[in-house]
Amino acid sequence: MMIDESQSVFKCRRQRLSQLIIRFHLFIFLIHAYIVNAHSVPLINPCKRLPVSQQEHISNTLEIKMGSFDETFGVINRIDKMWEASQCTLYFIIAFLFVETLLEVYLTMRQIRVYKQSKTVPKELKHVMNDDTFEKARVYGLDKAYYGIFKMILCDIVILQLELCYGFMAIVWASSVEYSANIGLNPKSEIQVGCLFALLLNVIGVLKDMPFKIYSTFVLEEQHGFNKQTAGFFVKDQIKSFLVSQILTIPIAAVFIYIVQIGGQLFFVWLWAFVAVVTLVLITIYPVYIAPLFDKFRPLEDGELKQSIHTLANSLKFPLGQLFVVEGSKRSAHSNAYFTGLFGVKRIVLFDTLLVNKGLPEDDPSLTESDKGKGCKNEEVLAVLAHELGHWKLGHVSKNIVIVQIQMFLIFLAFSQLFTYGPLYEAVGLPIGEKPILLGFIVILMYVLAPYNTLISFAMTVISRRFEYQADAFAQKLGYAKDLGNALVKLQLDNLGFPVYDWMYSAWNHSHPTVLQRLDRLKTYNQESEQTRKPKSQ
Ligand SMILES: [Zn+2]
Repeated sequence: MMIDESQSVFKCRRQRLSQLIIRFHLFIFLIHAYIVNAHSVPLINPCKRLPVSQQEHISNTLEIKMGSFDETFGVINRIDKMWEASQCTLYFIIAFLFVETLLEVYLTMRQIRVYKQSKTVPKELKHVMNDDTFEKARVYGLDKAYYGIFKMILCDIVILQLELCYGFMAIVWASSVEYSANIGLNPKSEIQVGCLFALLLNVIGVLKDMPFKIYSTFVLEEQHGFNKQTAGFFVKDQIKSFLVSQILTIPIAAVFIYIVQIGGQLFFVWLWAFVAVVTLVLITIYPVYIAPLFDKFRPLEDGELKQSIHTLANSLKFPLGQLFVVEGSKRSAHSNAYFTGLFGVKRIVLFDTLLVNKGLPEDDPSLTESDKGKGCKNEEVLAVLAHELGHWKLGHVSKNIVIVQIQMFLIFLAFSQLFTYGPLYEAVGLPIGEKPILLGFIVILMYVLAPYNTLISFAMTVISRRFEYQADAFAQKLGYAKDLGNALVKLQLDNLGFPVYDWMYSAWNHSHPTVLQRLDRLKTYNQESEQTRKPKSQ
């Protein structure tokens, strides 16, 4: 009972400080917090999974302490409520994740109907896309959609719900405590056990995901001619990415726990500051030190294209440092371009698949027959870059960083409000009173804030599409409308993208507008600028 009181005081103080803000910003989160808080009672929770011995111990202690019938009755009442609170939390989480997956399955089914019903090439693409390519894209899309539904049902409904019901998180935590003693760590140190817990969760996550990755790469993509990875490259790639992600995440997890332990009431502010700094450092070092571990970068060869890119960058005052070509084709045949670097000098990276003959001379021995002739002409590459530079000029990158930072702050704030609430831990199978910080954070981030995350990710998709249109408009103003249109169509064809989408599916899933939408919008921009030009010339 001591714990309960100190915790409610602790909670109250913090709530005074920030609950107003949280209620204002986290609309969906609030609804859930309300449901959880409605059952907020002291921390004796006869959770279903509580061992019988522990239940007996609690009731014995209560019998000794409680003299009168009224008091005993009051405690039984509380126990009932605690059971409700923990169960309610679990059911809410399960129900929400279930409904969300059903929504995604429903949207994919809508898209499957589109794949099945679309038999002819849209008239905007008739001059570039033949019936054969259209049919290939349709079958590829259909295969991916069926596989997507299978994966969603298996992972997000069956496995996830089983994990929740059987207390997977609690089992991994208990194993971490147990193993930590075996490998010479201190099982009483939350930081050391937390690091082992993070490692175990990551290993299990990778193993769980591996069959899907293998199927997707070597069966699905292979069948449609997209996979360029050999088994050896795949294995090496997976090991490297596992090691890099452990080297990054485990120390971060350790500092995270430490900050919560020593940060006092405002620990969420320090946590946010720490993660913000780490993110900015990672964004800065990633392209220079981490990306080259996975892919081969070579400087773009001197020539007309390089010259024009520099001219374009200079005209926009873009601080272009180096220009690289990345061998994206080893990984997959999907093509792209991007720029990196937060402050000062930036680098532009072009996927070799974006360039005609991968940017190599036509007689280069590494070029296969199927590679030849693919890719964009110089003007089209410039148009793609004009779009990318539009993102920079219009401040989309910094806006995105600010949005992400605000997001993180709100998540840490929510975490600070909820992490002492016992039923959250009991809902995922932990015994009463055990509240590991890292586990609490994962549960709150992944499960409790799931409705909020869904809402935010939808909002981010909407914002991203807006940014894409704005960057297209930017390229159009520089006179690249026609070339950008051609490049979009070419990339679409090279990536075997299907051009027709169900509007609901697209609105939910696509961070970029579809090619047809973008072509249409480019036409509108052209018409608008012609109209504004006409009155001047008259
Ligand atoms: Zn873009």
